[in-house]
Amino acid sequence: MKKIIVISLLCVSFQSYALDNRFVSTNKPKLIVGIVIDQMRADFIYKYWHKYSQGGFKRLVAEGFFFKNTHYNYVPTYTGPGHASIYTGATPAVHGIIANHWFDKTVGKSVYCADDFTVQALAGSKKSGQMSPNKLLSTTIGDQLKLSNRQQSKVIGIALKDRGAILPAGHSANAAYWFDSATGEWMSSSYYMSQLPAWVAAFNRQGQARNYMATVWQPLLPLTAYSESLTDDNAFEGLFNGETRPVFPHDLAKLAAANESFGLLKITPFGNSLTKDFAMAAIQAEKLGKQAVTDMLTLSFSATDYVGHQFAPNSIEVEDTYLRLDRDLAELLTFLDRWLGKDQVLLFLTADHGVVENPRYLNSLRIPAGNISESALKQAVKDFLQQHFAADLLLSYSNQQVFLNHAKMVELKVSRVEVENALVDFLVSLPGVASAVTRTALNQSAFITPPNRYLQQGFHPQRSGDVLVNYAPGWIDSEKNTGTTHGSLYNYDTHVPLLWYGWKVAAGQSFQAVEITDIAPTLALLLDIEAPNGSFGQFMPLPLK
Ligand SMILES: [Zn+2]
Repeated sequence: MKKIIVISLLCVSFQSYALDNRFVSTNKPKLIVGIVIDQMRADFIYKYWHKYSQGGFKRLVAEGFFFKNTHYNYVPTYTGPGHASIYTGATPAVHGIIANHWFDKTVGKSVYCADDFTVQALAGSKKSGQMSPNKLLSTTIGDQLKLSNRQQSKVIGIALKDRGAILPAGHSANAAYWFDSATGEWMSSSYYMSQLPAWVAAFNRQGQARNYMATVWQPLLPLTAYSESLTDDNAFEGLFNGETRPVFPHDLAKLAAANESFGLLKITPFGNSLTKDFAMAAIQAEKLGKQAVTDMLTLSFSATDYVGHQFAPNSIEVEDTYLRLDRDLAELLTFLDRWLGKDQVLLFLTADHGVVENPRYLNSLRIPAGNISESALKQAVKDFLQQHFAADLLLSYSNQQVFLNHAKMVELKVSRVEVENALVDFLVSLPGVASAVTRTALNQSAFITPPNRYLQQGFHPQRSGDVLVNYAPGWIDSEKNTGTTHGSLYNYDTHVPLLWYGWKVAAGQSFQAVEITDIAPTLALLLDIEAPNGSFGQFMPLPLK
């Protein structure tokens, strides 16, 4: 009798234990790897598909879950805001990273999204080390991960660009590492630690950056195989200093003297290879994924952006950069297989923004497009205000925003609303301007459709300007005829790849529209932790095994 009671009690307690555990994530991934490809537009997956290897992008698509319809939901679609939005699940309206550089009204000058003059460089050069996430106003998913377990999780950010490393890693990150163009070293700042870890110093001593600088950038395949791109020598590509035509081979050693030393490496696929090398060294040295709790690596590949700006998306240089990145990704995935096993790693891959074709190239195909000079537009606004309000009311025109001198308008008893509205009428009369919206309208209404919804979600009341301008499709903020840029609210800049892979992720794809700000809250729900504190994103329907 007693035996039966004991056995039945054991059964009951075992059952309730099993029942309880169905509701919590008992088998969390050991390592989260967030990969951001700088300037990767969604169609680059398909455009170069047949040239990709089996182990990189194709493996992520075949074995992972692909959200084919992932978009940015604010402007400007720049690197700083993009990285911040992926990891905070918020838009610039909340996380405050309204651009890479912006006019700071409180100090009357332009500031950089990651600068922090209270901290010092660790390795690298002095100026490139005064960096921290101090301007980011909300938490990242990495911050939340560390908050969930008394800071036991390790969170590390890596990118050639400081902002691509610092903003994703968040406020309480163990470290962020970026690349110094002057010295060729991986570096950090005293925000994170008092001394650079020995493994970083050792990596720098190996001279990997110097080795890549000694190479000649030859195309991976015969030039005739790049049928997805324009011919090598075309009028839409920018030149390296020291070259007279934008053609292969690009001899880095020969070009080094005419360019900013190691800065040249960033405009080649080898900048990404170096990032991959450093990331694998970091995972090993920091033993990421080898403790009881989940660790996180945020990894951004910046070279794609530098190459894209200089050569534009239809160049062999851009195509070759993606083919080489694909091979670097394959190497990284194989490394993770061996380090932890695929089931222990939860990985996502996306981009911080897309990119538009070179406007001259679009014009050659009879598609409307053009360039707007920021300085010319600034002067036009200044002149307009002088003419109509007899005063110099302009503080700045930057990131397609007009900043007005509020104190002067009060002093001259000029109505702010009147000035804002007059400027909208003026601005939309200019070639290449599609629409404009005022601070007053953004403060008083909630816009539910683009373009104003995207402008509103990029508008931070304390940091943003007074009139926000939206250029027409195909128009870019650039004075150059070659290369291209990004920043708009149109598909080419908002549509990015999003792939989830590893851990319990089931293979498949979805055409459902999801937003970039859904990534961080989705991660939070998968990990049973709180979403970042500024996040309004939704859980995306990610099927699990
Ligand atoms: Zn970028």
